Amino acid sequence: MLSYRHSYHAGNFADVLKHLVQQRILAYLTQKDKPLCYIDTHAGAGAYSLNSPEAQKKSEFENGIGKLWSADDLPELVKNYLKLVNQIHPEKTRQHYPGSPWIAKMMLRREDRLFLHELHPSEQAPLNSLFQRDKRAKIRQQNGHQGLIELLPPKERRGLVLIDPSYEVKDEYKTVVKTLKEAYKRFATGSYALWYPVVERYRIDNLEKQLCNSGIRNIQLFELGIRHDNEDFGMTASGMIVINPPWTLLKEMQTVLPYLAETLGEEGEGNWRAEVLVEE
Ligand code: SAM
Repeated sequence: MLSYRHSYHAGNFADVLKHLVQQRILAYLTQKDKPLCYIDTHAGAGAYSLNSPEAQKKSEFENGIGKLWSADDLPELVKNYLKLVNQIHPEKTRQHYPGSPWIAKMMLRREDRLFLHELHPSEQAPLNSLFQRDKRAKIRQQNGHQGLIELLPPKERRGLVLIDPSYEVKDEYKTVVKTLKEAYKRFATGSYALWYPVVERYRIDNLEKQLCNSGIRNIQLFELGIRHDNEDFGMTASGMIVINPPWTLLKEMQTVLPYLAETLGEEGEGNWRAEVLVEE
C-alpha cells in the first residue's frame, strides 16, 4: 500500500521548482491556437490546505512558497508564478497551495484535455471534487505509467506529460526511464517533464546517464538545491528533466534559478543547475 501523501510537502522548495517549470511550459504551449493534451501520471489531491495537520507537521511550505510570499525583490517570472498560485486563496489569507492538476486546470483552455492518474484512495476524493464540473478532465484511478502509454499519441499531437512519482519504491528510478522511452516511441514530439528528488546523488547520476543513452533527443535539466549534497537523510535538492522543452525555457530558468537558490537556500548553500543533457 502506498503511504506517501503530498499534503506533508505541499509548497516546499521542490514544489516551487516543479510548478514554476510546469507553468512556464504550459504558458508557452497555450500561446498557440491549437488544442493540447495534458497528462499527469501522478496527480495527487489537486490542491492542499496549509493548515492541515499534515502540512503543519513540518511546515515545509515555510521554506518554499512561504519565503517567496515574504520576499519583496521577486524576478518577473517568479511574480507570474506567484500570481497564479495566489488565485487559490482569493481571500488573501495564504492557507492553500495548488497541486499540478490545479495549475493545469487554471492554465488550460476550453479546447484542451486533461488526464489525471492517481492511485491513492484518499487523494482521489479531493481530485474528483476539484474537477467535478470540468468536462475537459478525466480522472483515472490507475497506474500512471501504464495509463500514459495507453493514451499515446493523443489526437491533438501536442501536449505536456508530467511524471511526478513519490519514489517510495526504489525501482521507480528505473521505471521512469522505461516509461519515458516507451512514451517517446509513441509520441516523440510531446513535451515531458520528469520530477526527481536528490536524496542519494548517485541515483540521479544514473538517471541522467540512462536518459542520455536512451536515444531520446532534446533533453534539458533544471535543478534547485537548498543544501550541499550530504550523507544525512533528507532531500537536499530536486530537479525537473524536460524533453522537448519550449525553446525559451533554458534562458528563463537561467534567469530565475540563481534567485531561487539564493532566496530558498539554507545558510548560503543554495545551488542550481540549468543544462542541456542531450541536444535536439
Ligand atoms: N503531481 C502532484 C503535484 O505536483 O501536485 C503531486 C504528486 S505526489 C508527488 C505523487 C502521487 O502519486 C501521490 O499522490 C501517490 O498516491 C500517487 N501515486 C503513486 N504511485 C502511483 C502510480 N503508479 N500511479 C498513479 N499514482 C501514483
